[in-house]
Formats: sequence, structure tokens, C-alpha cells
Amino acid sequence: MSTLRDSHFAQLTAIALAAALSPAPTLVAAADGAAEASAAPAASSIAIVDVTLIPMDRPDALPHQTVVTRDGTIVAIGPAKGDGAVVVPGDAQRIDGAGRWLLPGLIDNHIHCLDERDLELLLAHGVTTVRNLKGAPWHLELREQIRRGERIGPTCLTAGPFLNEPDFKTPDEFEAAVRR
Ligand SMILES: [Zn+2]
Repeated sequence: MSTLRDSHFAQLTAIALAAALSPAPTLVAAADGAAEASAAPAASSIAIVDVTLIPMDRPDALPHQTVVTRDGTIVAIGPAKGDGAVVVPGDAQRIDGAGRWLLPGLIDNHIHCLDERDLELLLAHGVTTVRNLKGAPWHLELREQIRRGERIGPTCLTAGPFLNEPDFKTPDEFEAAVRR
């Protein structure tokens, strides 16, 4: 348990966990939960109960696991039943994981964010970090709103302005754009 707790799983947020639940039909539920989370304070503790876990540090899937987070950090991973079963805190929001899969958040290293809703859609599909390669000033504010918890979205790494074909073609055009 502590091995997993110390692995990349510990980096996930509660919202990332909810968003990463699959199969696809449960993504609707995850998206609903995300919408509620933006309207009201999220429960400080979330328990995903009896889920099949893909730990990513080994080739196996681990069935019948329970994952508990508190304040966005994983505090327990272990069997859902039997000896050593994870105790679900009384104040936790319970998510039934039976028949569902749970994996660390995905990273999309090449997006062009053209609309702020793009980020919500990515999160709803389990992408918890993005690298935006066509940066604009409004992306910086979007990034900060997500960071402050004012908006639902993946962690956003964003580049500077787009300097590439077809917008720029000649060395002079590139040079002029860089100097602006
Ligand atoms: Zn591109």
C-alpha cells in the first residue's frame, strides 16, 4: 500500500481520479460530478470503492481496490474487502468503482487550446495535464483560474505565440515576428 501511495498515484487530485474512471458511460457521471464540484465545495474526502486499479508501475491490473483521497491527495489504497481492507472515512463521498477502471491521469503533450471548453473535455476523458503549443495571452489567465480552483480543467503548461507555417513562411517573417 505504501509503495503505491508513494508512486505517481500520490500526485493525482481527487478530481483527476473521478475523471479517469471508465468505461465511457461513467465519464458522464464524472463530468456531472465535476460540474457539481465547481458549484459547491468538493467533499474533502473521496473514496472510490471496489475499483480495478491500473497502477502503471507493473503490467497487472489490481481488482477490488479502494482508493481514498483527502484534500486532493491519495491517503489510502488497498483491498476493498477482507483482511487489511481500506476503511472508508465516514465523511467521504463514496464513488462505486465496481465494474470500473482507475488509472493515473493522462498527459496530452500536444494540444491547441482554441476554446476554454477544450480543457473541460480533456479532463472529462481523463487527461489531467496538457501542454498547449499555440499559446495566447488568454491561456495564462485560464491556467491560473484552474490552478486557483476557480475553474475545472487539467494542469495547463502553455507555450508562447504560434510561430510556424502557414502563418509565417520566410526567415524575415519569422525574425520580424520574434522581434515584435
Ligand atoms: Zn500542433
